Amino acid sequence: MEELVELARKIEGRKILLQVPEGLKHHVDEMVDVLTKMGKEVFVDIDPTYGSCDIRVNEAKQVGADVIIHVGHAPMLKLPNVYYAYWKKGANVDAIRETVKQLVKDRIACLVSSVNYAWILDHLRDIRGVKIGKGGWRIPVEGAVVGCDTTACNVDADINIFVGDGYFHPLAVWVNTRRRTFLVYPDGRFEEVSFEGVIRKRLAIIGSVEGRRVGIIVSSKYGQNRRELAEELYHLSKKRGYTPSLYVSDYLEPSYLMGLRDDFFVYTGCPRVPIDDMERYDKPILTPEEFLYKLGVLKEYRIGWITRVPPQGDEA
Ligand code: SF4
Repeated sequence: MEELVELARKIEGRKILLQVPEGLKHHVDEMVDVLTKMGKEVFVDIDPTYGSCDIRVNEAKQVGADVIIHVGHAPMLKLPNVYYAYWKKGANVDAIRETVKQLVKDRIACLVSSVNYAWILDHLRDIRGVKIGKGGWRIPVEGAVVGCDTTACNVDADINIFVGDGYFHPLAVWVNTRRRTFLVYPDGRFEEVSFEGVIRKRLAIIGSVEGRRVGIIVSSKYGQNRRELAEELYHLSKKRGYTPSLYVSDYLEPSYLMGLRDDFFVYTGCPRVPIDDMERYDKPILTPEEFLYKLGVLKEYRIGWITRVPPQGDEA
């Protein structure tokens, strides 16, 4: 909350569009109360807020907001009048420290976290064997990862230790490094995680795609929009004998695909949508990386955020 108050003091705009991720919505009343007492008028955007990539520029225009304050995620997009307020999630630092020491033993550990717990890494960096990598352009915070950017794992290490909760970040960390990965919870408990089953299912889905009609979907969310990539995938798939169509949508729900004749889809928005929600869709939905893997353009299965189709010989 201090970060939000400090930020609100600095910004000049009076009317605020406040974006709060689902996990912090139970704090919305307190946030609005504090901002209102500071003389601000607040509209709370109650659409799901998926990450620092999800900035509701159009909604801000529609309610005449001077600024957007996006709470709980790391600064990703540099846009005028958009501010990110860090939200530090509480954790038992002593217990986490003991667990990390116990896990490292005499190995080298790549230590990462989700952004809300990145503050803890400062309390762990002196542990022998711990390495903390630089964040990537999607998440420019040392040691922090998001589901589509695990650049902080690009260090030589024997194991990964992820501090936080939830499985999608550890999944991306594990997939992109194939190192033993331990999830350390905020209270210091831990478990070793492995996602062989998820990857087997994803590879089975990729292998099961037979039809040639492919729907390529662009997300209209500000920081998830990969229109150029979608257009490149459109042309590449056409060259490879597919019949592609281009679609655009803010969000994706199974009902949105009803009636469309495509055999499968490629979703160029957040990779969590095809992977986390795979059971909800009747037809296969691939990430761009998965489609390129199917086409043989990418040789390794990865979860990430490519923005262009990599050059390939005479097709480049
Ligand atoms: S695209 Fe998805 S995984 Fe990447 S930052 Fe946005 S919400 Fe997170």
